Amino acid sequence: MIFRQLFDQVSGTYSYLLASRPGGEALIIDPVLEKVDRYLQLVKELDLKLVKAVDTHLHADHITGLGALRDRTHCITVMGEQTKADVVSMRLAEGDKLTIEGVSLDVLYTPGHTDDSYSFVMGDRVFTGDTLLIRGTGRTDFQNGDARLQYESLFGKLLRLPEETLVFPAHDYKGETVSTIGEEKRFNPRLRVKSVEEYVELMNNLKLPNPKMMDVAVPANMHVGLHQEEVAKRGWALSVDQAKALIGAPGIALIDLREQSERDKHGVIPGSLHLPYLDLPENISRGGVLHELATATNKQLVFYCAFGERSAMAVQAAQDAGITTACHIEGGLDAWKRAGGPL
Ligand code: FE
Repeated sequence: MIFRQLFDQVSGTYSYLLASRPGGEALIIDPVLEKVDRYLQLVKELDLKLVKAVDTHLHADHITGLGALRDRTHCITVMGEQTKADVVSMRLAEGDKLTIEGVSLDVLYTPGHTDDSYSFVMGDRVFTGDTLLIRGTGRTDFQNGDARLQYESLFGKLLRLPEETLVFPAHDYKGETVSTIGEEKRFNPRLRVKSVEEYVELMNNLKLPNPKMMDVAVPANMHVGLHQEEVAKRGWALSVDQAKALIGAPGIALIDLREQSERDKHGVIPGSLHLPYLDLPENISRGGVLHELATATNKQLVFYCAFGERSAMAVQAAQDAGITTACHIEGGLDAWKRAGGPL
């Protein structure tokens, strides 16, 4: 197991790099924009391939590295389904798994600090975002925060993990790096309350100043920008209605880029081939399945994914590989469902 805790001194943010082996896939949790060069250098030094970048919630105190990592590595950007950030190409919910090669994290919805706060459990450790901090908890007084929900997330979910579970938060301002669930149960002053009412009272009277970066970071993190806009400008996007008319047409190969778990949960457009986004490079290169479909059998490749972000990146990659007919369904399965497309 490769595990690195990385620190941004300016915002007091911890980011976590995970992989199962040298030469394998990696994911990063809560990357900070200013540190992206450092992360990518480390990824290279450890001989890893960054395939997913995850935010535990929409941050108010720093600008996320998700957009820059996506642009530089074409990784999948991941957040919870409640998030209002546009950059996200894969959305998770309670009970889902966040996976890369050799690594699987259980997804816990832990709202309260924000309404899009998630925690991720991996074996002996939990990444708690700003829900549970070391001897603290994340403030609940902005971004749809809710002390009552946070109490439920803490007492109903996180504190029910085994006592020896290591706690890795998204922030620490005093230089603490790790704790355990048992330690926090005993020594975290915010958790020494007798009722939800007492917790709400405590959290509503913290009187904290807003984070210095808040007015910059929140809008920036909501509008990181999309690949879809660029791809549409080049004429490589189909609207859902255009795509519906092509279903079953002989010259079309419809390619689903999502992971199996997303297909099981949200359904599949009839007649589509399943080729996950992370396998794209081998499939579009000479001799690959998609390259052969496009060249030997002259099929037009129509990619789709959950929201149109992975498919927009796939169109760009296919075009770069010389597959000039490649296009995608704008807005992905989300738009398809909303327009009543068949599944
Ligand atoms: Fe936060």
